[in-house]
Amino acid sequence: MIVTAFRVLLALGAALIFAMSTPAVAQSHYLNFNGIPLNCTTANGRPVQIFTSPSAARFASQHGGGYALNSPRYGPLILLDLRLLNRIPYRAALLVFYHECAHLALPFGVGLGSASQERNADCFAIRALRDHGVIRTWGDFDSAVSYAASMRHSLTNSRIEAMARCVSG
Ligand SMILES: [Zn+2]
Repeated sequence: MIVTAFRVLLALGAALIFAMSTPAVAQSHYLNFNGIPLNCTTANGRPVQIFTSPSAARFASQHGGGYALNSPRYGPLILLDLRLLNRIPYRAALLVFYHECAHLALPFGVGLGSASQERNADCFAIRALRDHGVIRTWGDFDSAVSYAASMRHSLTNSRIEAMARCVSG
């Protein structure tokens, strides 16, 4: 979930990993996550593929369970580690998904790169949870941010406060 200066390099690395080790990776534009339908569309209307294969999961697990990229070979992708996402509160798992979706769904320059763009992604994600009825109370909100707040490269308090403003605004 954390953008670093190496993100582009990592994305290229991921594309290479797929090219080398995963002959058939085409998965779905739709994921049923414990009964909750998930999908994502880019800013210019392209459906995002969701990859959950072991190699995708290995990569995603190094990034908090989810990772978004524009692959030269496969187009817009979200990689997910479903084993990890099934171990955390489902609202927190959905926050991971929609945060990654935001990096593709928001216009380029808004959705990807700097700290302020991370905040835009956070805001998109928390509003998506609200709009899907997943967050109805502040207890729900706390559950959604609990996992990311506990990670080593964690959500800062100011990011959580900004999300609280997003969800109520
Ligand atoms: Zn991010």
